[in-house]
Amino acid sequence: MDTTQSRLWYERAQAVILGGVNSPSRAFKAVGGGYPIVMAKGEGSRFTDVDGNNYIDYLAAYGPLIHGHAHPQVMQALKAAADDGILYGTPTKWEVEFAEMLRLAIPDLERIRFVNSGTEAVMTTIRVARGVTGRNKLIKFEGCYHGHSDAMLVAAGSGPSSIGVPDSAGVPQTTAADVITVPYNDLNALVDALAVHGSEVAAVLVEPIVGNFGMVPPESDTYLRDVIKVAHQAGALVIFDEVITAFRFHYGSAAQLYDVHPDLYALGKIIGGGLPIGAYGGSKDLMEKVAPLGPVYQAGTMAGNPASMRAGMACLNALMDPKVYERMTQFGLTLEKGILASAAKAGLPVTLNRIGGAFTVYFTDRKVTQYSHAKASDSERFAAMFRGLLKRGVLLAPSKYEAWFVSTAHTEADVVATLKAVDDTFMEMAQH
Ligand code: PMP
Repeated sequence: MDTTQSRLWYERAQAVILGGVNSPSRAFKAVGGGYPIVMAKGEGSRFTDVDGNNYIDYLAAYGPLIHGHAHPQVMQALKAAADDGILYGTPTKWEVEFAEMLRLAIPDLERIRFVNSGTEAVMTTIRVARGVTGRNKLIKFEGCYHGHSDAMLVAAGSGPSSIGVPDSAGVPQTTAADVITVPYNDLNALVDALAVHGSEVAAVLVEPIVGNFGMVPPESDTYLRDVIKVAHQAGALVIFDEVITAFRFHYGSAAQLYDVHPDLYALGKIIGGGLPIGAYGGSKDLMEKVAPLGPVYQAGTMAGNPASMRAGMACLNALMDPKVYERMTQFGLTLEKGILASAAKAGLPVTLNRIGGAFTVYFTDRKVTQYSHAKASDSERFAAMFRGLLKRGVLLAPSKYEAWFVSTAHTEADVVATLKAVDDTFMEMAQH
């Protein structure tokens, strides 16, 4: 496969775009370096790069593209939005219709605000929680990603009662001191942290089903219920970061799958149909603390822009038929079985975590229920799989901590071709 043009564009990019990429995860740093593939066109389940090579896409732009590329209804909505002028800076009917649609799907969203990214959505839920409780501290879970706001770029300190340390230069120590990080799927660690800091904690933030150290569901059906219970006992609010999970597994939230009710939700990705978006929401009482009704400030020039609203509605409309989820799950299951069979044949230890059509392949023989398990999985083998698949025309996210996302656009032929590429890649890996 000739990827010369990708290399040339990347070299050119490096002279003008910091690091040659507009988001660090796009660089191939975690898979052995080199130049990333520069894409030119997306169509359905497939990508074409600047050299004309074709790839089956499981990156799905890190999650938003649940319908693959250029879904006809989403494109139609986008074209109509363009025809009507793309930005007004005034209220529009589309933001009302879209908020109604989200509330109907997730009734906990009694009041919603649209923003422009998942980062903003989470950042604002934190401000609301702090504004409402008058407390500053936050508890998050190790390995969960909640965007790049200061407070969320904090790594675990050592031990359950310890405060965090900045995970990025430029994050003040004082900010990190307000964040406590505990392992996911370990209720005792959360209970211990609350025992020490509980009276100062504004919110416990969690990805209800983790997507950021690969796909990791709660180990027990009661875990999320217990997280909410112990947080509430300490007087803290609970924020579900559903930026990846909302509308991923069914037409609604992950909270609904576990029949639980967090206080605030952060949404993004899928709900924008591929356009920039974020949203946050919760009960009327809590949300009324936000300006113009309340003292918590949040605003946005691009917030609720008609293009994102109309594309988002078209995207969700096309998810209303439960059959689309059944199909993604079916393809996910077929891929899971095939990948595990190929791994066994090649003698490679693989653990595969799958929820519906989203899954992660970890090179480890252990169960992966916490970040430390994902971290301990073999990075070099992941890189070898990534590169083996890439040269065979299957594109994944270039990190062992991401997921494969099956979209509604994937076909049986894609699945068959993918499994052949996996089998050949694993056999090649076994020989080295
Ligand atoms: N929360 C979660 C769970 C995410 O996965 C991400 C992005 N990967 C974010 C928040 C941040 O969203 P954005 O990149 O749109 O700012």
